[in-house]
Amino acid sequence: MPAARKTRQPRRRSTTLMASLLLALPMLAASPARAEATPSLTARLAEIREINRFTPERALPMLLRIEAEARAASVEETGEMLAQLCVAYQKVGKQELALATCDELIAFGRAHKNNGALAKGLVRKGYIKYDQNELAVSHDLIWEAERLANTTDDVELRVRVGVSAAESFAEDGNFPHALEKMQATLAYTRQHGGPVHLVIVLNSMARLYRQMREYDKGFEALDEALVAAEKTNSPGRLATLKGTEYGLAVESGQLERALKAQTAALALERQIGAQAMAARSLVNLSDCYLRMRDYAHAASYANQAIAAALAIHDENGLATARINLGQAYLATGRLAEGKRSFEAGLTSYEKSGDKPELQAVLAEYGEALERAGDYAAAVQAYHRERSLSNELFEKRRQKAMLELQEKYDADKKQRQIELLERENQVKSVEIDNRRLQQRVWWLLAVVFGLASVVVGLLYRKVRHANAQLFLKNQELKQQSVRDPLTGLYNRRHFQEFMRNHRVDEKRGAGTTGEEMVSALFLMDVDHFKHINDTWGHGAGDAVLIRIAESLREILRETDMIVRWGGEEFLAFLPAIPQSGLDEVARRLLNGISETSIEFQGTTLNVNVSIGYAPYPLAPGGKPLPWERAVNLVDMALYMAKGHGRNRAYGVRGFANFGKTSMEEIEQNLEQAWRAGFVDMAIVTGGYPDLRASA
Ligand code: GH3
Ligand code: MG
Ligand code: MG
Repeated sequence: MPAARKTRQPRRRSTTLMASLLLALPMLAASPARAEATPSLTARLAEIREINRFTPERALPMLLRIEAEARAASVEETGEMLAQLCVAYQKVGKQELALATCDELIAFGRAHKNNGALAKGLVRKGYIKYDQNELAVSHDLIWEAERLANTTDDVELRVRVGVSAAESFAEDGNFPHALEKMQATLAYTRQHGGPVHLVIVLNSMARLYRQMREYDKGFEALDEALVAAEKTNSPGRLATLKGTEYGLAVESGQLERALKAQTAALALERQIGAQAMAARSLVNLSDCYLRMRDYAHAASYANQAIAAALAIHDENGLATARINLGQAYLATGRLAEGKRSFEAGLTSYEKSGDKPELQAVLAEYGEALERAGDYAAAVQAYHRERSLSNELFEKRRQKAMLELQEKYDADKKQRQIELLERENQVKSVEIDNRRLQQRVWWLLAVVFGLASVVVGLLYRKVRHANAQLFLKNQELKQQSVRDPLTGLYNRRHFQEFMRNHRVDEKRGAGTTGEEMVSALFLMDVDHFKHINDTWGHGAGDAVLIRIAESLREILRETDMIVRWGGEEFLAFLPAIPQSGLDEVARRLLNGISETSIEFQGTTLNVNVSIGYAPYPLAPGGKPLPWERAVNLVDMALYMAKGHGRNRAYGVRGFANFGKTSMEEIEQNLEQAWRAGFVDMAIVTGGYPDLRASA
């Protein structure tokens, strides 16, 4: 078995990632487009970038000299200066300053809302975090930088960040994603970038294939990169590619090719004075010789590497070189020196805190000691390796536990959130329902209110209509019982009245103690037609109205006065002494005769003829129905007409009733009177021209 199996350089992530990224910077920034924009400062920045790439300790003071000027320049130039300053600080090992500078760059990018400057700051911070072994933080920063960079049309920035983003996926162990991103970046570069960009992407792709152990594809990418590199005419670029070739060759077991490539790289690096790169190349060469079991050369290069690392304060390089030297010594039996060198390397690893690396080195140490025959020391190294392994295992276990706990907590939180959300949903539904209910109540209230108003209005209308109706009814009633012209009762009312009138109603006795009776008086205006004909119908009406008034004056309030026909009036006197009837007849005749009726300047006078009788009439003790009584009175009225008008004929009673019948009397009252069957009173009006006798 070979003494050393490990290639130091590829295992230190900083050397692989940083080399590719940092080397990319100078030539990108030196592109003509930038130089044209603000020639002087941009050109100087490009020059410094080139120096920064290989000899940051020289670049740093140059950058500090133009700092003030750059800060006063454009956002792009200030940003680029800060980015370069960050590179320089990081490369000379001033990590705190590097971090502060890139934080400033990030703040600067944010303040100026410049995604390009912000992306540069974030990607630089990602590299620093990578150096500090904070991979997750580093990756997040770089992916965020990529997102921002892709919003710009800065080709160099996008290529650089695209490559870093792909490498971050590879570091995460996600090779499919890494390859996909790398291929996308390559496609973008072929379309938009120049030869320099192509070299950067292809070099990174070759390294990715090496990590994926796809060596043929790695060499293929490398070949294309070499063709492109020729166009850039950059020894540094070429040296980088040679370094990549070394890694591919070593891992694919082509040690001779590896040696040749690394030797060529070293020569180029020395040519341009790239100390850090050269120091790494020396470590790689010692490692390569260890693999080839050329321990003398291995020790020689390891010693050179130690000197180079010490010169540039490269702790990692120093540690690896010391371990390689230890391997070489142990392999050649120089036990004490070998152990001393190995232990010194181990101390460095312990200091850096890279436990997995330390564990791997301890295992190598144990094997080397075993091969060298120092079993006690081998067992000791083995124990250290085991306890470290246990410690790491415990750490991993704890980490896994923590992760599980976190996941559990997160799940719990998620469940609580879901529960709360559900509760909120239920609550919001409840609130919605309440709102709906309120709305329904409001609506009901409004509907109720409107309905009340409508009902109120309708009620008022109905009340008004009822009132109208009442008035109309009153009117109708009036009309149904009263005569419209004279305001007296009409015939129908009288009929109604008589139908309900009880004939045997007690009327009591008069003031004289005489028996009280009711009486019927039927009056007819004499020669009324003549008034109409002479003075017109209006005069006739006026006469009728005035007669009605006179009747009211002549008769009592309790007497019922009825307009019986055209110019006929009927009076029903409910209570009157038997002997007072003739007097009433006289009053009526004279009262009406004396009434002067003024009509359009003319004074009119009229007489009436009257037929009357007490009521009820009871010939032979049997009372006559009111219709027949009225009929008899009407016959008496005609007798008055026939005997000269302006007079009243009253039926007083019947005599010798056994010799006749009521029917016979009703056939011819005059004849019955003359035959002595009817006793009649005759009252004549006050006018002498009217005849008063039968
Ligand atoms: P007599 O003395 O025989 O009763 O003669 P008269 O002219 O009064 O009797 P007649 O029956 O011949 O005429 C009655 C007239 O009364 C006929 C009719 O035109 C009139 N008359 C009936 N009602 C009214 C009314 O309301 N107003 C007016 N102006 N005339 C009426
Ligand atoms: Mg008449
Ligand atoms: Mg008449």
